[in-house]
Amino acid sequence: MSRDLKFTRNIGIAAHIDAGKTTTTERILFYSGVNHKLGETHEGSATTDWMAQEQERGITITSAAVTVGWKYRDNQYHINIIDTPGHVDFTVEVNRSLRVLDGLVFLFSAVDGVEPQSETNWRLANNYNVPRIGFVNKMDRSGADFLKVVGQVREMLGSHAVPLQLPIGSEDTFKGVVDLINNRGIVWNTEDKGMTFTEVPIPDELLEETAVWREKLLEAVADYDETLMEKFFDDPDSITEREILDALRAATLDAKIVPMVCGSSFKNKGVQTMLDYVMELLPSPLDVEAIEGTNPKTEEVVVRKPDVKEPFAALAFKIATDPFVGRLCFIRVYSGNLEAGSYVYNTRSDNKERISRIFQMHANKQNAIPNVGAGDIAAVVGFKDIKTGDTLCDEKNPIVLESMDFPDPVIGLA
Ligand code: GDP
Repeated sequence: MSRDLKFTRNIGIAAHIDAGKTTTTERILFYSGVNHKLGETHEGSATTDWMAQEQERGITITSAAVTVGWKYRDNQYHINIIDTPGHVDFTVEVNRSLRVLDGLVFLFSAVDGVEPQSETNWRLANNYNVPRIGFVNKMDRSGADFLKVVGQVREMLGSHAVPLQLPIGSEDTFKGVVDLINNRGIVWNTEDKGMTFTEVPIPDELLEETAVWREKLLEAVADYDETLMEKFFDDPDSITEREILDALRAATLDAKIVPMVCGSSFKNKGVQTMLDYVMELLPSPLDVEAIEGTNPKTEEVVVRKPDVKEPFAALAFKIATDPFVGRLCFIRVYSGNLEAGSYVYNTRSDNKERISRIFQMHANKQNAIPNVGAGDIAAVVGFKDIKTGDTLCDEKNPIVLESMDFPDPVIGLA
């Protein structure tokens, strides 16, 4: 089984503590759980399932990587969410997550804006040039100010933050957004906990502001695309949604633009829309550069492409204990394919390890899978001696992926 990597996303959610990372992850798991259920049964069971799964999901949320499915524009996506520690004491761990993920959702509180840990994590992400989108959460709280946070991302983090939305309503009445790309209003439906939305006219009082911010958005993306720039000056109305999204994606992948959206995960608003933008704008494993390592025997540089036909190479990024399956090692596979029951070579210990089983952590179950291929993330069990940072690979084609000298977060200001 090999997956079309175009539809895979390896993402992290970075946030200052208390900005709502747990709540947002919980909503993502809920939606993906319901998505699966919707295929099998009828929609009515969503709420009871949610209650019943709450406890098991509590375990999943703290997992180093959790896998969810997401349907976007008729394609089924496979998303691995890699835990990105929020606390400043875990800089090495943040570095390691940044290494194995391909894109970030950067969460801010709409009230507190850019906070110290957002700054540290932002600079670490800059060191790796990680493409990111911003999600301004807690829009229902008093004092919430989306555009103020966008301004802080520009000024305090020195990044080209560009709003894709304007909030409709505020605090208690926050219910939707103006979608600046499509020039329409959307209001999230409450009966399915914000999993879907209804299109509405742009409220009169927001028409002027919408025109201003849409123009800023078009100008920002046109900067990265010459044909768009011509259209922008000749006839901006002729620019299509697809053209905007494609140019925006290119600029986001280059980490030149940080698209910003908003919501309230606690009130089930906006998480769905944010996830759609993850599919649309953040990289697949095919969009990132091939990984480099060294051959431990010859010291030569080795480059591996995200292709199942290449020799196997994976980085162990977290060792954990799971109440159901015991000691687990989370790996990011960069090239090749690993079958359950086969042997891998550990370049640090110079030993072979048998991997008895391979798992992916889902909202409500640990899923045993027969194999894991390039571009994907999974947890393996059965090993004796694997440490975080170890490279697991094909014995005949050895490679060391990680050198332990991570970039210093203090240098390299945005
Ligand atoms: P984390 O530390 O980033 O994981 O944050 P949590 O998800 O645990 O949220 C911290 C607190 O903020 C909790 O009390 C949440 O209920 C609350 N919270 C999270 N998201 C929202 C939101 O969108 N609106 C409001 N009003 N509260 C929220």
